[in-house]
Amino acid sequence: MLCVAAAMGCATPQYALRPAPQPVETPDVLQIERAISAQQAADFARQGARPLREGEILWGFEPQAVLERLARVTERPGLPYQAYLYQGKDPNAASLADGRVYVSTGMLAYLAGRSRGPDELASVLAHELAHTTAQHLVKRYQTLQQQQVLLSLVNAGISAATRSAGATAQGVGQLALNAAALLRDVANSGYSQDQELEADQLGLRYLLRAGYDPRAALTLLEDFARFETPWPFLRTHPYSAQRRAYLEQYLRETGASAGSGAQERIAQLRRIQQSYPPGSVSWQNLQRQIEALEN
Ligand SMILES: [Zn+2]
Repeated sequence: MLCVAAAMGCATPQYALRPAPQPVETPDVLQIERAISAQQAADFARQGARPLREGEILWGFEPQAVLERLARVTERPGLPYQAYLYQGKDPNAASLADGRVYVSTGMLAYLAGRSRGPDELASVLAHELAHTTAQHLVKRYQTLQQQQVLLSLVNAGISAATRSAGATAQGVGQLALNAAALLRDVANSGYSQDQELEADQLGLRYLLRAGYDPRAALTLLEDFARFETPWPFLRTHPYSAQRRAYLEQYLRETGASAGSGAQERIAQLRRIQQSYPPGSVSWQNLQRQIEALEN
C-alpha cells in the first residue's frame, strides 16, 4: 500500500489506549460515506455478493444475527447494518462506511473448520464494525483531499507566478475532476496500520459488551499468522504477532483477561441486558453497571 503521509503511520504504531469514537454524521460526511460505499458495493456485486436474510444459517453461523448483536453496542447503533456473502476462497471480510459488512465464503468455511462457535466470527465482524464506527474511510478521504488541495494550490501558485493568473482557476477546476479519482483511491486503498490496531482494540470492546469471548480475537490472530496475506492486512503487512501482543496488553490493562470475575460478570450482565429494549431504563441501569466493571 502506498504510504501517503507520515501522519498516517508509516512506522509501526505504538500501543495506546484508544478513546471511544465520536462519530460525525453531518450531511457532507454522510454523503462521502455513501459515495465511497457505492463504489465498494459495486465491486462486491461483481463478485456475486448478496445480502443475508435474518435467520439465514451458513456453515452453522447466523452472520446477520451476530452482526446486529454487535452493532447494538457500538457508538453508531443507528446505521442499517446488513451482512453480505460474497464468493472468495480466501478468508476475508470487509465493512463499508454505511453499515454493510461483507464476509467471503472462504471466511465462513475456514471458521466452520475451526469448530469454535460464533465467537471467532463475532471477532471478525467486531473488527470490521470498528472501521465503520471510527469512520476510517472518511478520515482517509479527508486526508487525501487536503493533500490534493495543497498540491493543487502549490501548482496553481507556481503556474500563476510563471505564466498567467488564469492558472489558479484551472487548478480549482482540476480539483472537481479529481473528486471522482479520490473516491476511487479511498475505495481501493487499505487502512493504515494505526487504523487496523484501533479497529482491533475497539473490536475487543464490542465483543466484551455484546457478551462474546474476547479471547477469540487472539486465537484467530494466532492462526492467521500462518497465512501469507492474513485478513485484515491483505494490502498492508502481516503484523499478526504485534497485533496479538497489543490486544493482550489491552485485556490485561482493562482487567478483562480470560477467567477474571469481572469479565464473566460483564458477559452475564450483557446477556441479561439483551432481554430489554436498547435504551430502556433497565437497559441503561445494566449499562451503567457494565461500564463500571469495564473501567
Ligand atoms: Zn481491518
